[in-house]
Amino acid sequence: MRGTTLSVLVWWAVLTCQIGAADWPFAHVRSDEPSFRAIVTEGYQRSATFKALIDELDSQPGIVYIASIAKLSQGMEGALLHAVAGSPSLPVLRVLLKGHPAGDSAIALVAHELRHVVEVLRAGATSSPTAMTRFFASLDAAHSAGMSKLETEAAQEIAARVRRELQQSARINARP
Ligand SMILES: [Zn+2]
Repeated sequence: MRGTTLSVLVWWAVLTCQIGAADWPFAHVRSDEPSFRAIVTEGYQRSATFKALIDELDSQPGIVYIASIAKLSQGMEGALLHAVAGSPSLPVLRVLLKGHPAGDSAIALVAHELRHVVEVLRAGATSSPTAMTRFFASLDAAHSAGMSKLETEAAQEIAARVRRELQQSARINARP
């Protein structure tokens, strides 16, 4: 009997902790993975920079899906696919994360990749995979040197800023 009550309680806790896809508040940032939805929700609550990023994406004509993948090339932890689905007026992009990252580093990683989504949407460079690649190549100083993962300084900066804000919010929460 006691075991049953406990398992019911645990089940209830699991249900209430998970953010169901049905009541997901963000129209333009989506994931089928509950753990990725939890990362976005936590980042939104704890980091002003992360929140601004999600709010901007929600106001842009574009949708991004965050999905998991077993392996990424070049030792990358996350990547924005240079592939476009959807329509010209509402492109659908895909961010891939290696495995199922968790914690503050995963929030910073998502911020990094979503910043790339903002960059490409702002520039309107989503007409084709070639247009996306050309756009990111133009932003990447290392690319002309022939050694590039098509990185942008802004994405690296935003990840660092989100990490700092998460550290701060962890300290605030740790106060008695
Ligand atoms: Zn990047």
